[in-house]
Amino acid sequence: MLRKLFSRCMFETRQNLKMPCEVNTRFVILYGSQKGQAQSIAEGIAVEAEDHGLVAELSCLNQSEKYNLEKEKAPVVFIVSTTGDGEPPDNALQFVKGIKKKTLSTDHYKHLCYALLALGDTNYANFCNCGKTIERRLQALGAKQFYVTGYADDGVGLEVVVDPWLEGLWKAIKGAFASYSASDEGTTLSDARPASPVLASQSHDTASVSTAASDTHKDGGAPHVPLAASLTCSLPPLSQSSLNVPALPPPYLHVSLQDVDSREQTVGHLNNENVHEVPIERAIQLTTGDLVKTSLLLELDTSAYPTMTYLPGDSFDVFCPNRATEVEDMLCRLGLQDKKHHQVHVSLNKDTKKKGAQVPSYIPPSISLLYLLTWCLEIRTVPKKAFLRALVEHTGDTVQRRRLQELCSKQGATEYNQYVRDPGLSILEVLTAFPSCSPPLCLLIEHLPKLQPRPYSAASSCLKHPGKLHFVFNVVEFSACSGRPVGRRGLCTGWLFDLINPGKPKCSGSHALPKIHVSLRPKCSFRLPSDLSVPFVMVGPGTGVAPFIGFLQQREKERQDNPEAVFGETWLFFGCRYRDRDYLFREELEGFVTSGVLDHLKVSFSRDELEMEGNEVTTSVARPRYVQHNLLLHRQQITEILLKKNGCLYVCGDAKNMAKDVNDTLIEIIKTQLQVDQLEAMKTLAGLREEKRYLQDIWG
Ligand code: FAD
Repeated sequence: MLRKLFSRCMFETRQNLKMPCEVNTRFVILYGSQKGQAQSIAEGIAVEAEDHGLVAELSCLNQSEKYNLEKEKAPVVFIVSTTGDGEPPDNALQFVKGIKKKTLSTDHYKHLCYALLALGDTNYANFCNCGKTIERRLQALGAKQFYVTGYADDGVGLEVVVDPWLEGLWKAIKGAFASYSASDEGTTLSDARPASPVLASQSHDTASVSTAASDTHKDGGAPHVPLAASLTCSLPPLSQSSLNVPALPPPYLHVSLQDVDSREQTVGHLNNENVHEVPIERAIQLTTGDLVKTSLLLELDTSAYPTMTYLPGDSFDVFCPNRATEVEDMLCRLGLQDKKHHQVHVSLNKDTKKKGAQVPSYIPPSISLLYLLTWCLEIRTVPKKAFLRALVEHTGDTVQRRRLQELCSKQGATEYNQYVRDPGLSILEVLTAFPSCSPPLCLLIEHLPKLQPRPYSAASSCLKHPGKLHFVFNVVEFSACSGRPVGRRGLCTGWLFDLINPGKPKCSGSHALPKIHVSLRPKCSFRLPSDLSVPFVMVGPGTGVAPFIGFLQQREKERQDNPEAVFGETWLFFGCRYRDRDYLFREELEGFVTSGVLDHLKVSFSRDELEMEGNEVTTSVARPRYVQHNLLLHRQQITEILLKKNGCLYVCGDAKNMAKDVNDTLIEIIKTQLQVDQLEAMKTLAGLREEKRYLQDIWG
């Protein structure tokens, strides 16, 4: 998502750092990137190197033919992200595998000096794990760090760490070159302390955009000062401040439209052998009434694709298009409504100096403009500051220009977060708020990321529902805000909602519902214990219960097939707002208890006022409102399952709040039950995670 931000996140004017020795100008940048963010940062460094009189050699970690760390003497800068449950990005897998080899000696990389920027998200387990793994191994193999490692958190905004880290990098590289020179004179690099990121001492030259919006009011009278700041208006001091805005790199793509009717072109990425078009067989709304999110269960008929067998715990991707109305609005803004069926040709600008510039791989050849905007580009994307910066150049009105400059400036960082990032404003919403802005198509292609499919967890077991795949989702609602006069639904969930139209009768006949494109996601470690006797605890409030329905359906079948076997006890902690509105799968869950498949069902209702019957909770303690409260109430049994009976604990659902609260509660439980301090408790939990006995499948 931030792909384009960082490649442009260089400030307008910079002082070139003078190198101590003319020959020391070469350094290496290696990146491992899943969604393009790390790649984009790496590319940005490569471009900026020239401003500093340096020569950067940029490679992806999987392009091992392009670099040779075994012999590399120049500083090496690693930019690596982490994906999934702490895994390396696909294009760093081989490198990480290689560097972990036990046969490598402890001085294997003693000639190497490196800096590392790790990208991650604290909402997920194993924050920055790939970066940490590479760093651990580099150090174990004798490499020397020349600059402190940056750990950037997408949960709060990568730029919080990335920007200062990038600022300090140049001084650190200069220091590394100096150490090399000194080491020639007898000092070794290991004597050189890693430079810390320099925040205050790096000066940004102020770009010449200091004219305040309030001063440029066209009536020429007293400056107009708005009463309240909003997306389009600022107040002093920002409106009167000088601004540091990101530099504007020249466009690197060339886009042309050809008058060839491409209406009949077959769909590009949907034409992949792993993507299947399957009918929605049933759609059921699981919630009723107000004050709860709308949850829907869809049953897909996958029987035409026998290879689509899945195990409980698996998730799969749903491919959704951008909304037709938004695509039309975008075409209007681009002034290209009458060319929507023209073929789009995207190529690299011949004279581009952008390092590693490529035509985005997710834009297939010979597609129409309509297809491009419908299936390839995420037109709902929240524009990054670099995108806003680029929009300035295509905005006619001076007040609007100034406001866009503010929003992408250092000084306007808080307002950018408040008015753009936090409300999740789309580029179309920004364009609507700034009507004098008319960006060209190539700018959109350069800045909009790939339209990603949305993953969903299977909420069924193939054993119980052969040829069927169930999933359950909440319809995401974005409320109205400054810049969004009317609320809207999430892209995929809003699309699915419209497709099945739950206003109509709940279950439709076999052919009444449309087909959707789906593909199973590879690599899954969220699995039931293979040993039937292992006890396990499941924590899944709201739609987080989805994979556990699959687990329990599978367990039900296993019990029928193995009547003699010993089964470990099972616990499910579920939570919702109201017992009678959003208690998902209530009948099925209670049925599992009756049949003995589920030994303990603990449900918490965050908004119901009365103590719930059948919740097995004593009234002497405060009513458990959230899953973690119920976990605390049953701490003894949980400790026993996890620490004495070698059991497992699964958590699924909201990454932002619930998973963190559950994690903290588990630490608390371990602390009190084992009478150990916080650090020891954290280590115990980390150990469980390592042993794959504490597993998370979380999203946010
Ligand atoms: P989008 O248009 O993509 O918008 C959602 C984004 O906007 C999110 O980043 C969210 O943080 C943000 N957002 C949401 N509301 C607001 C708001 N009011 N203001 C500002 N920002 C907001 N979801 C399920 O419901 N069920 C599942 O079983 C499930 N399984 C998943 C499994 C995995 C492995 C993963 C990674 C995700 C899973 N998800 C699941 C999440 C799902 O993939 C989608 O992200 C979700 O359905 C929203 O998609 P959307 O296109 O409708 O929303």
